[in-house]
Amino acid sequence: MKRVVRVATPIGRRKLFDYLWTDNARPPVGYRVLVPFGKQQRIGLIVESTTDSDLPLKKLREVSKVLDDQPVISESLMKTLVWLARYCHQPLPEVLWSALPTPLRKGRPLVPKLEMGFMVTPQGRQVDPRELKRAAVQRRILETLQAHRGLVAGDALKDAGTSWQAAVKRLEEYGWVLRQELDRPQHRQPPDLIQDLNFEQLTARNRIIESLDQYESFLLHGVTGSGKTEVYLHVIAEVIGKGQQALLLVPEIGLTPQLIDRVERALGMRVVSYHSNMTPHQRHRSWHFAKSGTTQVVVGTRSAVFLPFKNLGLIVMDEEHDASYKQQEGVRYHARSAALHRAATNKIPFILGSATPSLETINAASEKRVTNLVLTRRATRVQLPAVHLVDLNNAYVLDGIAVPLLKAIEKRLKNNEQSLIFVNRRGFSPVIWCSNCRWIARCADCDVKLTYHVTTDRLHCHLCGKSGGSRPGICPQCDSVHVELLGEGTQKVEQFLKSRFPGTRVLRIDSDVSKGYRKIQSDFERIQRGEVDILVGTQMLSKGHHFPGVTLVGVLGADRGFFSIDFRAREYLVQQVLQVAGRAGREGKPGQVLIQTAFHDNELFATIVQHNYLLFARQELEQRREALQPPFSSFALLRANSTKSEVPKKFLNTARAHAIEILRKEHCPDVRVLDVVSSPIERIAKRHRAQLLTSAASAVELRKFLRLWVQVLETIPKRQNLRWNLDVDPIDFY
Ligand code: ADP
Ligand code: ZN
Ligand code: ZN
Repeated sequence: MKRVVRVATPIGRRKLFDYLWTDNARPPVGYRVLVPFGKQQRIGLIVESTTDSDLPLKKLREVSKVLDDQPVISESLMKTLVWLARYCHQPLPEVLWSALPTPLRKGRPLVPKLEMGFMVTPQGRQVDPRELKRAAVQRRILETLQAHRGLVAGDALKDAGTSWQAAVKRLEEYGWVLRQELDRPQHRQPPDLIQDLNFEQLTARNRIIESLDQYESFLLHGVTGSGKTEVYLHVIAEVIGKGQQALLLVPEIGLTPQLIDRVERALGMRVVSYHSNMTPHQRHRSWHFAKSGTTQVVVGTRSAVFLPFKNLGLIVMDEEHDASYKQQEGVRYHARSAALHRAATNKIPFILGSATPSLETINAASEKRVTNLVLTRRATRVQLPAVHLVDLNNAYVLDGIAVPLLKAIEKRLKNNEQSLIFVNRRGFSPVIWCSNCRWIARCADCDVKLTYHVTTDRLHCHLCGKSGGSRPGICPQCDSVHVELLGEGTQKVEQFLKSRFPGTRVLRIDSDVSKGYRKIQSDFERIQRGEVDILVGTQMLSKGHHFPGVTLVGVLGADRGFFSIDFRAREYLVQQVLQVAGRAGREGKPGQVLIQTAFHDNELFATIVQHNYLLFARQELEQRREALQPPFSSFALLRANSTKSEVPKKFLNTARAHAIEILRKEHCPDVRVLDVVSSPIERIAKRHRAQLLTSAASAVELRKFLRLWVQVLETIPKRQNLRWNLDVDPIDFY
């Protein structure tokens, strides 16, 4: 009987193509193949094997070649990816290929080229390099290697001479030098789990250990500094002990350079990381180490959830509330849903940890779909910081900082303690305006105000990245000289504090200055060594860092959360403030948090002052239940954009008509289709934007409707530069 295979190609990625499989062996699902495509050969991936096709069998062409001797996507991973594509209504080929490192998409060999390192053998150590007097290159290499203990990268031997490779080979033949993969993770020493767990930690750990080898989700809800990471490490050690692998997901690795080190020290082994700051080749190597089982632990950002683990035993998602777990372009998936599906498919536990869990997860815990584990106290026995509000209606404010906060900073300076000022806006001033005619500087290509940056002395657009020219001396509209800068970003606060407290060391941390792993790492080391007095920064500072010397946290601009159209804005505001507050007083001296606000009697702040996140969560969930908002209903947002202003709305109105048609025919009484509206930011980078929200109390019903709808949408021709995408479970509405 003839067999047919469905193949996903990385180009033209919306649908699968059928090919004949004539070999006697079973079709290798999950393998890469070469297939004829017009006159070309293209790389493809076998997704499934069947016996029939929509096309007559004699019209089908044959698979030309199987590229690998093992699958690039295992059976269980395939299950998750197929599920994800259906759940998010994204084309399966795109989902599959985006789960693979770039070199594999381009057809490179499955096993990456590993960088080699060299070391002297015990025998080589006895040799006196001077004996090699006539082979100068060999002599220099031997000298270099003898001066080092471990492996030395080939790169470091290049200086010995152009013929260094031949020389190394010679030394290997003598038995004096050994070559080994440089970045292969190696066991170093026995695990050194630093802390003995306290009672609450131990209870949590034991409960999780009970369910190794079966699927169960856990919420580890512990205040900042309660020792959640310590619990993860103890559970991971257990999993490794059984010869299995563990995946630790974190929001942004670049921001937590100390974490890898802490994990390696605790577990006594090298671990592999996986994130977007790595080169494609480095990612390919990590992918390979996970697949071959060479590494037992991977620490990675959201896309690490698709690594092809050989024997995965545990998934941990740290700071599970963090928005960066949702991919906002291309395949719009949430790593939390993907991880949950993988854990269930692989029958392994899944730990979601946070001091401020998402309301979705809190709700899942109260419905017992997730097991709730709580850490109520800080592990170091340091009290949580005292939180106070600074009432902006009754305070004198200088360049954005109210006098009570200034005094508090001054006190810390006198005591040689550090302060952290949180300003969630980069640049100098977010508004440039003319007080005479009310002109405001706006981006030519986007529907936003420009931000003035003092470092470049130019206006910048934070959406498209374009520079909007220099700061106008006179108003371009009325020629008045009254062009002013309003509001404050990190640069202004930095400048003001430097001039207010001459001689103090102020360090700014935001995405303008903190570029790259090295810079961030060295900044954090400076903070830790106490070489900084005041830290000024954006939410980059709020994520899980441990700053032992910080005893004061000031929060500016929190009120912006009250003016958002997003129903999640209150949740984000509370999470952000509690997270940044958690940086204060983590060791020794108790910390203090001052939040500037014009809404000091808002009930949100009452729960923040009491550190009572759960109380806030319950109240907020009650409101969402009444308003039928997630997690008590499901949303899907259809977004469209085009360079032509009317095109997105026209497309969406057509889409809406189709939706109503579907709803009339099918039985989906629960599904609601709202009106087409302009997006809150109507234009970005010259493209006009509009959106259409659909929702249903029943997720199943919404999914059924979306499947039918997307099929129709895909048949609508995309004219006039139109692009659209469907965002299932959107986490914002911009
Ligand atoms: P979290 O992940 O909840 O923020 P961490 O695991 O980073 O908390 O722990 C916060 C601090 O408390 C760290 O310095 C850690 O070494 C320390 N710590 C954690 N558990 C214990 C414990 N059982 N006894 C003493 N110190 C602990
Ligand atoms: Zn003017
Ligand atoms: Zn712009």
